[in-house]
Amino acid sequence: MPFSEKIKEDAMIACGRHCCICHKFCGNKMEVHHIIPQKNGGEDTFENAIPLCFECHAEVGAYNTSHPKGVRFSKTELKRHRDNWYDCVKRGNMAGNTIPPLKLLREEGFENTPLVRITSGIQLLNALSGCCGAQHNYEEPKTREEASIISEFQKEIEYLSDADSLMEESERVLVGFDLNELITKMEEKGFWIFTGRENVFLMGGAIKTPEDFPLLHIYILRKDNLQTNS
Ligand SMILES: [Zn+2]
Repeated sequence: MPFSEKIKEDAMIACGRHCCICHKFCGNKMEVHHIIPQKNGGEDTFENAIPLCFECHAEVGAYNTSHPKGVRFSKTELKRHRDNWYDCVKRGNMAGNTIPPLKLLREEGFENTPLVRITSGIQLLNALSGCCGAQHNYEEPKTREEASIISEFQKEIEYLSDADSLMEESERVLVGFDLNELITKMEEKGFWIFTGRENVFLMGGAIKTPEDFPLLHIYILRKDNLQTNS
């Protein structure tokens, strides 16, 4: 059974017609996904529904268990994405989570990359997954303490962008959890973390013809500045 019109309407209102994973505004281009699939007994309830854009819906469905590659979206993760986003919409904080990228324009083409605020270690690991590296951008620290926490964070990212593809699922749980602590610490010091992926072309080494790879831009921004700017 599909979701009823009433449940779809409730879900559209709750998400503000923004995708619960990538947070972009979708208008008509939305689908309501069953978090627990129907074939596994998933019900057509509001609790089991997550509104997604076409791209994210395809991503969620694309994981191949007989050829595991990348990081699968778990049911609990989908629920958390959805609940976080519904909560943002309810608080009218849609701009609080995604900031207008034009303010941060650095390179041609990058203006189309939405920057998404990262609030958990797992989100950060997912953002890094499959990327050829990370590019750091940060607001200048005002104290030695700020400098050292930004540095600590960057060191962790540098380590993770090398280790990411080698990490076992069981290890990710712990690494993601430990990252939460670091992200919270940064937040307490007044810094928010945003990421955006950009495709870059690389050639050389084993790559004979130019190939595009996602590069992760990481922005460490003072949240006070963001709030007064917007
Ligand atoms: Zn999406």
